[in-house]
Amino acid sequence: MKKVSVECRNIRMSYGKTEVLKDINITIEPGEFFALLGPSGSGKSTLLRLIAGFNQHQSGQLLVDGQDISHVPPHKRNIGMVFQSYALWPHMTVWDNVAFGLVERRASREDIRQKVTQALETVGLLHLAKRRPNELSGGQQQRVALARTIVIEPQVLLLDEPLSNLDKNLRVQMRQELLSLQRRLGITTIFVTHDQEEAMTTADRMAVMDQGVVQQVGSPSTLYDFPVNRFVADFVGTMN
Ligand code: ADP
Ligand code: MG
Repeated sequence: MKKVSVECRNIRMSYGKTEVLKDINITIEPGEFFALLGPSGSGKSTLLRLIAGFNQHQSGQLLVDGQDISHVPPHKRNIGMVFQSYALWPHMTVWDNVAFGLVERRASREDIRQKVTQALETVGLLHLAKRRPNELSGGQQQRVALARTIVIEPQVLLLDEPLSNLDKNLRVQMRQELLSLQRRLGITTIFVTHDQEEAMTTADRMAVMDQGVVQQVGSPSTLYDFPVNRFVADFVGTMN
């Protein structure tokens, strides 16, 4: 699969009169595991939804692989998103949940069988294919949500606080699983979190956001050692 870059150029977005993204400039390199870190309300989900195509910016450019996709509808963007709530279909089996996106895309039966099998194997859940979401643990549901997203082979993976519903121990374990999956697939990934430790221990590079503004972009060690302002110093430096 081709590795692609994601670039936000001078992106601004408002809800009504309130500007929530203020001149966002970020370039994410092909194949990078990039964390978007910031407190609640800083605009992380808004930016992620905008990249996915569920929000529309008022100005600026959004480029994937060098092409401006600002006006491409979500289902044509080849971008996969995992939500905090997982949003699995409760009445469908694990298998059908994962197959859903392929059915929608009118894939052949054989294609569906192969790809769903592979996605479930990738997350280690093939043996639970016949279960329903409420018969799974939180961590297993999270893996189904991930399988459902990677099965369509997106070029970009967007993760919006995917681990925040899990307890601390599982969160640490799943963090490593996510990272090793990302490394295997080599897929450009944007990982949103408000947990600085989660960002610091996983990201190749990261951006710290506050109040709709990107305060700093760099490697975890750069942000830790050379914060550009008080906010970054306090936010990145706080171990919890
Ligand atoms: P984060 O994900 O970092 O917690 P959000 O992107 O969800 O932040 O929210 C950024 C800001 O935009 C917040 O002030 C929030 O209240 C506001 N906001 C988010 N969604 C909407 C919406 N649909 N309508 C109006 N304001 C919104
Ligand atoms: Mg959010």
